[in-house]
Amino acid sequence: MSVVSKRQPFLNARLQGFGATIFAEMSALAAKTNAVNLGQGFPDKDGPKEVIEAATAAIQSGLGNQYPPGIGVAELRNAISAHQQRFYGLAYDPDLEVLVTAGASEALAAAVLALCETGDEVVTFEPWYDIYGANIAMAGAVKKVVTLRPPGYGFEETEFLAALSPKTRLILLNSPHNPTGKVFSREELEFIAKVAIERDLLVVTDEVYEHLVFEGDHIPIASLPGMRERTVTISSGGKTFAFTGWKIGWVCATPELTSAVRIAKQFLTYVSGGPFQYAIAVGLSLGDDYYMDLLADMRRKKDFLLEGLESAGFEIFRPQGTYFVTADARSVGYEDGLELCWQLPEKVGVVAVPNVVFYDNEVEGQHLIRFTFCKSLDVLDEAVTRLQGLQ
Ligand code: PMP
Ligand code: GLN
Repeated sequence: MSVVSKRQPFLNARLQGFGATIFAEMSALAAKTNAVNLGQGFPDKDGPKEVIEAATAAIQSGLGNQYPPGIGVAELRNAISAHQQRFYGLAYDPDLEVLVTAGASEALAAAVLALCETGDEVVTFEPWYDIYGANIAMAGAVKKVVTLRPPGYGFEETEFLAALSPKTRLILLNSPHNPTGKVFSREELEFIAKVAIERDLLVVTDEVYEHLVFEGDHIPIASLPGMRERTVTISSGGKTFAFTGWKIGWVCATPELTSAVRIAKQFLTYVSGGPFQYAIAVGLSLGDDYYMDLLADMRRKKDFLLEGLESAGFEIFRPQGTYFVTADARSVGYEDGLELCWQLPEKVGVVAVPNVVFYDNEVEGQHLIRFTFCKSLDVLDEAVTRLQGLQ
């Protein structure tokens, strides 16, 4: 779903209704209006210098400048496997159970394309990250949603069960969750796991914000009993190392699931990002200090923006993770979040994202807007000062 959804004469039926992503649209609007861009989630400061140095050294010394192996370079697969063990006690064989992809985006597309038959149903939560809808459509599968509602963004178990049918093939989970900032609790994950096991469903889980959790813990659903064998875990280096343009992602799953995803991946990009694979391997191996500083820095930015939004009159829903916060447009006098997002740049010079584009049931999200706080404090300060002008 996106803002532009008019009929496209050459586009196949599966993709009708999809237009430019909201992130590109809002960043273009920010550039055009010279607004502070708190829309698209990308940091305004690059990641650790060791990682940059590793990338340039790899390029200079010819590491990865030609096609790397289809499953990814061994250094990175070993580092991904070690990361899953170090943070979650999960053991994945780097040769059979790890696959490197072009960002989490390609991993998600390849997983859905590999695992779904035409007509299969995929259960996911709304609001959903925009590419899920397109991935499911490209696979000829059907999206079924369960709504997460503010303030806590919990879900009704009865609604979850009602979304299932004999055609359900997989559950597509995202925790920490974009755009809500929700971190699924152990109880919620246990419920989802129980259903997946009882109904023999697969789970594809998008964990790209795994190291940005402010409250509670990130629990990979693959770590729950009986889940490792039915779960495809996806993450990437984009958020954790602040290199969203490098697009180094990965999959961890059983050999059979990895092999299925690999076949689809192979015919999408085959391989990508050779030298950057070596660099992200260095990033994953950084000490605990790196991960603690990343979180502490993001927590400061979160606290700053949340307080600033409240001072500007917004009702906000406190995120437990990610680098996003959702606010209620009605608290500043707008029923419609999309309208507020179109007006904000001109009125006060700030860009946000309208959450309605992440909903099937638009009424659930039409008054919600999302701000990112992965920006320097002075940028956030400027945005807050401008937003205070709304009152
Ligand atoms: N999943 C979620 C929830 C995201 O927010 C993003 C945004 N970057 C992605 C996947 C895509 O990750 P990547 O940039 O590694 O493809
Ligand atoms: N994940 C980022 C966000 O939610 C955007 C990524 C993109 O532009 N595709 O803002």
